[in-house]
Amino acid sequence: MTIEKKQWKRSIFNHTQSSPNVEAALEINASICFDSCVTFQRRIMHTTEEADARFYRDTESIAFPALSDEQLATLESLGTRRKVNRGEIVYKAGQRDVPFNLVLSGELEVFESRDGEEQILGVPGPRDFVGDISMLTGTAVIATVRGKAEESEIVQIPAARFRRALAEIPSVSETIVSALIMRRKRLQRDREFTGLRILADRDSREGHQLDDFLDKNHYPHRVIDAASEQGQTLAQRMNLASRDLPALITPSGMPLRHPSLREVARVAGLLRPLASEDEDEILSDLAIVGAGPAGLAAAVYAASEGLNTVVLESYAPGGQAGASSLIEQLQAFRFGAKFTTPSQALSLGYTPDAEHPHFLHIEGCNAVLRAKAVIIATGANYRRLDAEGREQFEGLGVYYAATPLEAQLCSGSTAIVAGAGNSAGQAAMFVSEGAQKVLLVVRGDSLTKNMSSYLSRRVETKKNIQILYQTEIRRMMGRRKLESVEIENTGTGARRMVETPAVFSMTGALPCTGWLPAEIERDDKGFILTGAKVAQSSAWQKMDRAPGPMETSRPGVFAAGDVRSGSVKRCAAAVGEGGMAVANVHRALASYRTH
Ligand SMILES: Cc1cc2nc3c(=O)[nH]c(=O)nc-3n(C[C@H](O)[C@H](O)[C@H](O)COP(=O)(O)OP(=O)(O)OC[C@H]3O[C@@H](n4cnc5c(N)ncnc54)[C@H](O)[C@@H]3O)c2cc1C
Repeated sequence: MTIEKKQWKRSIFNHTQSSPNVEAALEINASICFDSCVTFQRRIMHTTEEADARFYRDTESIAFPALSDEQLATLESLGTRRKVNRGEIVYKAGQRDVPFNLVLSGELEVFESRDGEEQILGVPGPRDFVGDISMLTGTAVIATVRGKAEESEIVQIPAARFRRALAEIPSVSETIVSALIMRRKRLQRDREFTGLRILADRDSREGHQLDDFLDKNHYPHRVIDAASEQGQTLAQRMNLASRDLPALITPSGMPLRHPSLREVARVAGLLRPLASEDEDEILSDLAIVGAGPAGLAAAVYAASEGLNTVVLESYAPGGQAGASSLIEQLQAFRFGAKFTTPSQALSLGYTPDAEHPHFLHIEGCNAVLRAKAVIIATGANYRRLDAEGREQFEGLGVYYAATPLEAQLCSGSTAIVAGAGNSAGQAAMFVSEGAQKVLLVVRGDSLTKNMSSYLSRRVETKKNIQILYQTEIRRMMGRRKLESVEIENTGTGARRMVETPAVFSMTGALPCTGWLPAEIERDDKGFILTGAKVAQSSAWQKMDRAPGPMETSRPGVFAAGDVRSGSVKRCAAAVGEGGMAVANVHRALASYRTH
């Protein structure tokens, strides 16, 4: 059975004209930046029809640009013509590396099959192109395309040629890449497009993780509350008891009970094998571990500068910065970087004198990844404050670094710093320069346990810093941004409200370095030491060059972003470090060549 959409407003093909609204699109981009903050509960509750309509209207001209004659001619020259008859399949959901299609005449039909029903997503005609970001990321396509007109003529550009063209022809690539990204965002919001379904209890942590994983990997999906009428009907139809939840339901109607992230990635077509079954080695110039802002920036620079680059990511590209990373991921990919998600680096080894001296063992991969150089960009896991409402204000009043930017936001008002270690002390001192007052919220009853005595003395004597011992933040409130918090004295149980635009969460971060060998030296908190700090280590004593600023105690292995000791824990800083690390890699590789 086929369900025709009455309106095209949500579909991936939509041709009602509206004026470009780049600002709206940028706002949407910004709003998904720290997207991990969107709670599972909020995702279960849908956005309003009105907000959806505005979104589709505002993004339409980006998703469906009118290609100029010149752009059409460029695309046509890259492909080959093909005739498609009515009902003939152009590509099927689940396929990889499908060609890019430009319609010359006739009409195609794009549709999703779900539980035996077809949902028509669009009917592209002459001058339209059919594509999906999976063509750029190498993941599986999520819809099927077939001929609708008696006979249509299309131009097909093979995936590899299409990616190369996007890297080489900016006049076409900008329009198409923006369109493909926007189409995916529209699809992710489309209530009628299902993709994968997660059936879960509203407050299920496991369910939340599946949702977050698919979301960060930009895979359209729906979360269905098991307690809702729809959830109960679905559970009954699929024969799912509450012990089976969360369950992932595939478009063909197959339920997976308590699926692992690898299973989810497999079903969603995200897993890209790095090596074929019979290969036991993968050779690369550069292996990048972690695809947060630092790793992605490094991947873009390295791949565009001709290094054969492999990126390993254990969860989803974007790291702590969440979904905003798509453009960097696409850029790196179209320059030829190989990504694999979820793929965790399990260990890093070293074979002296080999052409590819560094080797990595990867989760779920039998082959060993060998590289001439490695960039570690695995970031850190931040401890989060356990306060009601906190997620809503991440980046909008809850900060994990105190730089001049955040300090400015609380100038003249009361700021709160939570924590009792050196980073909390330093943040309190720094913010107190501009803020009227700083409340240092400490869970225990002393500062001296984790803070250096010199710093704690300065904090204690600073006039506009007040230390609140045995105190915890319970609630955070505000409309769009943080406006006030409720704190509790855990000794007396007394609670009070404090008006504040900023809470600095300085309760510690654990660097993701547990998988590294001891030879990669770290500071007392586990962050990787680089540059001058490792110049005296044994491996460098044998070298006739000094370590680069981002190079670790093992020559040829670099660290960038949050995982590096002394780095500024910010997105922009991580991006800069990723780029710098690649410059360091080039110098190191050149020095090998001269030997
Ligand atoms: C809640 C929150 C809010 C923030 N808000 C802001 C903000 O508003 N503005 C701002 O500038 N900064 C903000 N930051 C800081 C910013 O997110 C980080 O500084 C930045 O993400 C660091 O980038 P990175 O690439 O070094 O590390 P990460 O972003 O942490 O990325 C590291 C990546 O490595 C992967 N990884 C880890 N171990 C392995 C392994 N063994 N194998 C393979 N992959 C692995 C992880 O899955 C992750 O994707 C915030 C941080 C948090 C936690």
